[in-house]
Amino acid sequence: MSRRVIVRGHSSTHTGLCQWPAEYHAAMPSSPHRVTAIAGDGVGPEVVASAVRIIEAAGVAIEWEWADAGAEVFRRGDSSGVPRETRDSIERTRVVLKGPLETPVGLGEKSANVTLRKLFETYANVRPARELPGVPTRYAGEGVDMIVVRENIEDLYAGIEHMLAPDVAQCLKVITRKGSEKVIRYAFELARREGRRKVTCATKANIMKLTDGLFKRVFEELAEEYAVEAIEAEHLIIDNVAHQFAKAPAQFDIVVTTNLNGDIISDLASGLVGGLGFASSGNYGDDVAIFEAVHGSAPKYAGKDVINPTALILSSVMMLRHIDEAAAADTVEAAVLTTLESGTVVTADLARQTGSDIEHAASTSAFTDAVIANLGRSPAATPARAVRPTGPAPAPHPRRSYAPEVYAGIERGLAGLDVVVESDLAADALGAEFESLAGERFRVEFVEARGTVVYPATGLASDTVRAFRARLVASDGTVLGEEDLVSLLGRVSERLRWSEAIRLQVLDGEPAYTKAQGQ
Ligand code: NAD
Repeated sequence: MSRRVIVRGHSSTHTGLCQWPAEYHAAMPSSPHRVTAIAGDGVGPEVVASAVRIIEAAGVAIEWEWADAGAEVFRRGDSSGVPRETRDSIERTRVVLKGPLETPVGLGEKSANVTLRKLFETYANVRPARELPGVPTRYAGEGVDMIVVRENIEDLYAGIEHMLAPDVAQCLKVITRKGSEKVIRYAFELARREGRRKVTCATKANIMKLTDGLFKRVFEELAEEYAVEAIEAEHLIIDNVAHQFAKAPAQFDIVVTTNLNGDIISDLASGLVGGLGFASSGNYGDDVAIFEAVHGSAPKYAGKDVINPTALILSSVMMLRHIDEAAAADTVEAAVLTTLESGTVVTADLARQTGSDIEHAASTSAFTDAVIANLGRSPAATPARAVRPTGPAPAPHPRRSYAPEVYAGIERGLAGLDVVVESDLAADALGAEFESLAGERFRVEFVEARGTVVYPATGLASDTVRAFRARLVASDGTVLGEEDLVSLLGRVSERLRWSEAIRLQVLDGEPAYTKAQGQ
């Protein structure tokens, strides 16, 4: 290969988050690939520089568009952390290699990472965890080789939070059929393209019957479609998945799960194969893919040239496959595995795990040099995976239409109203208050605190807090209309401090709400 990497320095509008060595700023002739590079915060510039040097040495021609995001951008007063120029660059290149971005701790500011993933609808966060040579773990020799596919947009990460009352907070978990279908189909397609045999769906559907229940249902529907590919499909409760990860992780192949579950179990999976220093990831959407290490900005190591760059190098291997540079991806991956297998160039995190001399651990740049020196070599004992995906995943075709007419065809009924109020009244007194507010058209089904019924008294011991939810449903023989709900809410607001009201719907004859504990 005679191609060269072309790395462009920051443009005048991009005040540098990091200073790149002069040799990276040379503009080269036009090249086939354009990638947006975000150096990121903390150790980001060091690990991104490492991956860029290796890609250059492997001879892949990439024109980098350097762009800013993260802490410095927040400090400049951009509350999104992702400036317009960066968004424009990603719209042009559709591929991003990025370092970690610091999430400012404080009210009002959202994570720039989450913003980036959502802005470009990168709905599948793909995190491989594979046993690596030279990286001792409790499971060495068992052949751990799994991929966690984490839904990347929805769930508690929708970030919809409210204080229902002082000292009572709520975060809404949002799961949609469309969002679930996209990521679950991605997982099955990945299994097909990689020749993998099993997809495990991990949820808490036993407790969250409507949200995780929907995710599980969509999984079961798609599993039927992929049964012809001889891909085994199983559903496990997420806590059992955590247990099985610790006991026998090699049984897993592809695990697809909701956003927060995926966040936690993918970090757990990386711990099984050596830790965050080795955990790579790709965020895939239909149009844009973002490649980054799983780890954060590790601020205590910033600028010290001691961080392990393997995670970002392996993320850049995923990027090379995505941009159809499969041969270069194989070359870089083999060089990383060869370096790890040799055991002679060991970064501090690995030295700590192996009990070797941390004083003489390899620097980030020395490890990078070793990988470059090993380009063209293959590890002696680590077989390559037989099938590897190349190029972007095919755009998923939805299993069913999400057109307005589908939803217009759903039969809807009104069953009542849930109202959240802040009150210092005792449960029975509050229940009596709602009884008097119910009028002829409603009856009080229950009042609950933190999900447990406190009125009518059930005998369940429950420490009440100052926020209660009352459920008022149609009294016998009443067919509720819009005006009944509005009138009820009007009566409630005259006597009580309410913070949330949710209509109780019946969709195609099924209640679109859950019962309370103890009901
Ligand atoms: P972290 O991943 O930065 O650090 C966790 C621990 O792992 C630390 O002890 C760290 O030193 C170590 N570590 C991380 N990467 C390593 C590597 N490559 N080699 C060796 N050791 C490594 O997590 P944190 O401290 O919770 O977060 C720091 C900041 O990063 C926060 O602002 C957080 O929001 C942000 N963050 C960003 C991303 C992202 O950009 N995708 C991901 C996670 C956290």
